[in-house]
Amino acid sequence: MDEYSTFIMNIDDFELFDSHIHLSVSEFDSIRDDILNSLKKTKTLAFNVSETLEDSKLTVDLSHYSNNLLSFVGIHPKYSSSNLNEFDKFFTKNIDSIDGVGEIGLDKTYVERGIEFDSQLITFKHMLDLAERHKLPVSIHSRDATQEVLDIVSSYDLPCIILHWFSGTEEQLKKLYNSEILISFGPALVYSKSLQKLAKISNPQRTIVETDGPVPFSACFEGKIAEPSFIPSIIFKLSNLWNMNFDDTSKQLINNLKPYISVKTKSIQ
Ligand SMILES: [Zn+2]
Repeated sequence: MDEYSTFIMNIDDFELFDSHIHLSVSEFDSIRDDILNSLKKTKTLAFNVSETLEDSKLTVDLSHYSNNLLSFVGIHPKYSSSNLNEFDKFFTKNIDSIDGVGEIGLDKTYVERGIEFDSQLITFKHMLDLAERHKLPVSIHSRDATQEVLDIVSSYDLPCIILHWFSGTEEQLKKLYNSEILISFGPALVYSKSLQKLAKISNPQRTIVETDGPVPFSACFEGKIAEPSFIPSIIFKLSNLWNMNFDDTSKQLINNLKPYISVKTKSIQ
């Protein structure tokens, strides 16, 4: 038997998804294999996002071990000063294993920590250029910078824009109702009244779910680091907010990915 076998998949092969998780980071080292097994068993597709060049390399490596992962590579706004030449070389070399660009974006709360907004803008636009050139989806961090992000992405031709952990205003969300942008909610939706208020008015056809693991969540999650097993609780909350049953909500969410996300053929080690 060959060392590699090839699979062709599409979104219909999955029942659940986690649209934003940092599976390559060391916090997951001891449970990563269990998570990969569980993704397979529960037919869950995970969008594995990266924050640095090193992280992006690990993400691409990991993609060779599972059919349940999409590889998103990129430089997070908090690492904006990274050397983009090295990143570009890595990107070009591994383009066949890359499914998206992320986690990228802007964050005004980092400015007081010494990460200039101008430098964030340069990195963000560079990442968007790569995504546009290669027709790849983007997973965007937009804390305290939702309007700036929306203004910038409107001038790019991108196949899919995901606003991860949406933290904009009700007004911004209402304006996005008829746009193609996907709005993602995570575990905090289960207990945060302000996020519930937002999710209630979010277009069910443009809403998706994520964990942002290994971020730990409080309340019912008891400070545990997030992993894809949290996803059904988020879907359950959305189903309540939208007055839909759980199964219909799950199907709706997976259908929301179909126009924007393709799962390409790959070789599994
Ligand atoms: Zn993240």
